[in-house]
Amino acid sequence: MVKRGLLGKVAVITGGASGIGKTTARLFARHGAKVIIADIQDELGHNLCNEIGSDESISFVHCDVTRELDVQNAVDTAVAEHGKLDIMFNNAGILGNMDPRIMALDLDDFHKVFDVNVFGALLGAKHAARVMIPAKKGSILFTSSTASVSSGLAPHAYKASKHAVVGLTQNLCVELGQYGIRVNCISPFAVPTPLMINHLGMKDEQKAKEVVSESANLKEVTLGAEDVAEAAVYLGSDESKYVSGLNLVVDGGYTTTNPTFG
Ligand code: NAD
Repeated sequence: MVKRGLLGKVAVITGGASGIGKTTARLFARHGAKVIIADIQDELGHNLCNEIGSDESISFVHCDVTRELDVQNAVDTAVAEHGKLDIMFNNAGILGNMDPRIMALDLDDFHKVFDVNVFGALLGAKHAARVMIPAKKGSILFTSSTASVSSGLAPHAYKASKHAVVGLTQNLCVELGQYGIRVNCISPFAVPTPLMINHLGMKDEQKAKEVVSESANLKEVTLGAEDVAEAAVYLGSDESKYVSGLNLVVDGGYTTTNPTFG
């Protein structure tokens, strides 16, 4: 069923060529939105455009979110192709070094994670705001993580970066609300995307699910990228027109029940 709250909306999705971003791009397009996929993985991005459809509702731009000109270009492409930008989903993210011990701290890795997860997300918000402020409307979304709400041990750079995203969400909500711009973030628990599968050194989704289930002491991890994408549909659409400043945790209640896991 097409959700009318997304019909005709124009969205940029960073990290849209894979995982959560890719699933969100598919769902946005299904609900009638026009989508610009912004990613560094050109081949995957073009493949997704071909899969979703050859009409003008979806396109790909090469965009490294750590480069301001790339981000500016992604936003300008949305405006050039569709005349506006309604939704900016700052979703691109990396895990970095997964050793959580302080003695394994690597400043280069820390900077890399912050460049993508924090600075890249902030650049997306900045260039979205550039076109949303005059339009006096818009929805800016970020992908944080349950690492922003759990007291579990995660790598310092990743954990700090995802906390930072929540702080930016609150700050931008306060700053941009006067222009009719809503700012929210989504915090998923483990989703078996390439990011998670590669990090675990697994070959496939099923194996990754089993490993996460085992370490989280769960019978089975059932959270999928679709569940996160549904949250993005809600927060991007007019159906959430009175929701701003929210960190929407998508974890089936897991973190509340097990606050010390990841
Ligand atoms: P993914 O690896 O499948 O997708 C991430 C995408 O981001 C990739 O297409 C990658 O090319 C892109 N990307 C990386 N660096 C980029 C850059 N500099 N510029 C532009 N694009 C870049 O991973 P995913 O799981 O879909 O991750 C999406 C977001 O969800 C990330 O912010 C991640 O931290 C967050 N997240 C994931 C999980 C999980 O378990 N998968 C849980 C919580 C939060």
